[in-house]
Amino acid sequence: MTSTQDIILLGPPGAGKGTQAFRLATRLGLPHISTGDLFRQNLREQTPVGLMAKGFMDRGLLVPDEVVCEMVRERLELDDASSGSLLDGFPRTIPQAEALEGMLRRLGRRVDCVLFFDAQDATLVERIAGRLTCSGCSAAFHARFAPPKVAGVCDHCGKAGLAVRSDDTEAAVSARLVEYRTKTEPLLSRYTKSGQLRVINAEQPIATVENSLALALESN
Ligand code: ADP
Ligand code: ADP
Ligand code: ZN
Repeated sequence: MTSTQDIILLGPPGAGKGTQAFRLATRLGLPHISTGDLFRQNLREQTPVGLMAKGFMDRGLLVPDEVVCEMVRERLELDDASSGSLLDGFPRTIPQAEALEGMLRRLGRRVDCVLFFDAQDATLVERIAGRLTCSGCSAAFHARFAPPKVAGVCDHCGKAGLAVRSDDTEAAVSARLVEYRTKTEPLLSRYTKSGQLRVINAEQPIATVENSLALALESN
């Protein structure tokens, strides 16, 4: 294992990337960098990036590559990312993957591992339909599969602000799945060819997926 580690969590919306990233970040001591969370934070702060991203997010469309890449480039420069990163939801297109390689190369680093969350559409829809997201720390819960200990209250940060995300509507979710198939799925063959892809069965319960990820990282 190298001294820094840059790990990509790749997979369709609702596959469980954020849920596992929360756990992995603590275990590996790496910052959880979720581009979706960064956009939502920008939106709460009403920054130009947040306001421009909103129209795309509401419709379930990908935000243009240049905007996403600039945001990630700035995030990777922060101190906590000097030991590596857990990239959740980035890259999502081939140009983003190329940009990431350039960013890491300039830092003397490379992508160490790509963890692919493999799940069927019916599972994704079922998970997103019951997803409750914390407005404080972005942790995801599920009405049936991962209920919070106290209804409406986040287990992690204690905020009483669990809510359905505004883009977790049926229309936006089907658009996100189309974006995923057309623009993100091509990354699978790229990372298979490069030998970096590790396929994880994301259909399993949360604790089982966590074990599969640990095994995949151990054998890396
Ligand atoms: P989910 O995991 O449910 O797909 P995310 O929180 O990852 O949701 O992303 C929410 C939205 O943020 C996306 O639909 C898209 O509009 C935008 N977004 C997040 N990451 C990217 C990215 N890498 N490239 C383009 N748009 C992104
Ligand atoms: P992503 O970041 O890939 O969009 P999330 O981590 O937000 O996915 O998970 C989507 C929803 O599914 C959340 O409500 C979460 O609680 C739930 N979930 C995550 N992993 C699992 C799992 N292995 N089994 C059942 N539900 C899960
Ligand atoms: Zn929280």
